[in-house]
Amino acid sequence: MTDGDVGLDSAGDPYAWLPAVVVSSVAQTSRARSLTLAVPGLRSARAGQHVDLRLTADDGYTAVRSYSLSDVRASNDAGSGGAGRVPRIEVTVERFDDGEVSPYLVDAAEPGDPIEVRGPIGGWFVWPPTEFEPDSAVHAVLPEPDGAAPPTSAPVQLIGGGSGVAPLMAMVRARGRDAPPMRLLASVRDPGSRWFVTELDEAARASSARAASGPHSAAGEGPGSFAVDWVHSREAPEGHARRAGRLTRDELGRLVLPASEHPLVYVCGANSFVAVVAGWMVELGHAPTRVRTERFGGV
Ligand SMILES: Cc1cc2nc3c(=O)[nH]c(=O)nc-3n(C[C@H](O)[C@H](O)[C@H](O)COP(=O)(O)OP(=O)(O)OC[C@H]3O[C@@H](n4cnc5c(N)ncnc54)[C@H](O)[C@@H]3O)c2cc1C
Repeated sequence: MTDGDVGLDSAGDPYAWLPAVVVSSVAQTSRARSLTLAVPGLRSARAGQHVDLRLTADDGYTAVRSYSLSDVRASNDAGSGGAGRVPRIEVTVERFDDGEVSPYLVDAAEPGDPIEVRGPIGGWFVWPPTEFEPDSAVHAVLPEPDGAAPPTSAPVQLIGGGSGVAPLMAMVRARGRDAPPMRLLASVRDPGSRWFVTELDEAARASSARAASGPHSAAGEGPGSFAVDWVHSREAPEGHARRAGRLTRDELGRLVLPASEHPLVYVCGANSFVAVVAGWMVELGHAPTRVRTERFGGV
């Protein structure tokens, strides 16, 4: 592991505020929007990391909130289109009507608007996972399950509740054709709350098409494969195989990669969602060391 992997950069203060500018935005739903920010001087970001955003009012009042990166591919020179290009990141924000910051980001922020960025932050809830040296204390504290593939080559199970799909989307987007199989379970209220739905469904369709024509396993879970399952708690789309209703532990067990495959599991969403789902995953036999969580707050 290098210092850069955990966001520590000897070249400067890793937590310095960087001036950034909104470049573009795209609506995800009626309540959520993705914003692309250009951030000169940003260190290369990893899928799963988040940044802090700082807004400053005319009277000097400031507000800071954390947002996961939903796309990191242009955060380094290579992804930005070549050396010298300004790094770009995407965040995706859900509006809380009584919130201080999210209504501005979802409804008012426009290209050219200044925002300050601190980060990227995080070295555990990241994919590809950090490779720790064999003598790292991490291995002593978090032993790997017997018979499991190393984290870097383990299949990946992503589980997102509502806005919690944001960092998981960065992971889906960052995976290459040789990546371990990846599966996403996205739990949303209703069809209108599905973030990235077109892109995710298209990625899953393309993966199925490749599996049908290539040397994949019967389940279509070869390198680079991707599948998505949508669970709707309040209202399901017409014709959807699953009726609306809250996710249960038994259903979770049927929808996720089995514990026997020792997948690396990433769970993200509001506090209650993450607590319940991560607990169920452990009850279903997944090793706690393989279940990584990110909590967005709320109840
Ligand atoms: C590491 C991290 C990453 C995050 N990534 C994202 C992201 O990618 N996209 C995103 O939309 N948000 C994300 N959040 C949540 C975000 O930081 C803010 O909390 C959220 O945008 C609300 O800010 P606000 O100023 O509008 O609301 P506030 O003025 O702070 O609060 C308004 C009301 O909303 C409630 N509330 C705040 N956050 C939540 C929540 N997550 N769930 C339920 N109720 C909540 C508060 O309790 C309060 O009642 C993340 C949080 C963390 C800690």
